[in-house]
Amino acid sequence: MQEIVLNHISVDKITDAVFAENGIGADVLRLDKIHPFISGNKWFKLRYYIREAKQQNKKTLLSFGGPWSNHIIAIAAAGELYGFKTTGIIRGEEPAELSPTLQQAKAMGMQLIFSSREDYKQKRIPLVSIDDTYIINEGGYGMNGADGAATILDHCRKEIYTHLCCAAGTGTMAAGLANAADPQTTILALSVLKNNHSIGENMFIGRWK
Ligand SMILES: *Cc1c(COP(=O)(O)O)cnc(C)c1O
Repeated sequence: MQEIVLNHISVDKITDAVFAENGIGADVLRLDKIHPFISGNKWFKLRYYIREAKQQNKKTLLSFGGPWSNHIIAIAAAGELYGFKTTGIIRGEEPAELSPTLQQAKAMGMQLIFSSREDYKQKRIPLVSIDDTYIINEGGYGMNGADGAATILDHCRKEIYTHLCCAAGTGTMAAGLANAADPQTTILALSVLKNNHSIGENMFIGRWK
């Protein structure tokens, strides 16, 4: 499994007529370049969970996700990379044919356990040996996730931007950015999940200030 290469991250200019006409400069921070399977922000959110799992001598990483979850694939790849077994609790019944995401996760050695929508919602974990298992929330949600995401901003000159924009699922990445950004910077987190109205209340913001 390929290593994570942080110095592949680049800051690329976005050239678009709409920006040009309005005198706006926009850059994209290319976190996607660090690894072929672990998409950038997913690794940043996982880094401190993985460190903690190692410290606690855990052997297995377990997490949750839907059939198209980049987080699940990142866990599977991180398991190979850092020497953990991995278990994915997957939302919904087992399909006749696995999604490409799940095929990939399985090929990387992840044990897939399908969970009915109701069980999934209740976070019922079919019992696997819990002792040596380190459990990570869906999407890497939590303080370690936000703290890891905060280190994303070590890879650009954060002080030159008026706004930082990102997509938000659990809001963990956005919380990390908000915690690490300069106080005058505006964070625009665009919620991309349906009916996710409580996202603002559930974000881990403000711990660092
Ligand atoms: C996973 C992902 C998100 C959502 O991250 P959260 O921390 O759950 O809000 C946003 N953007 C990209 C590119 C992602 O891969």
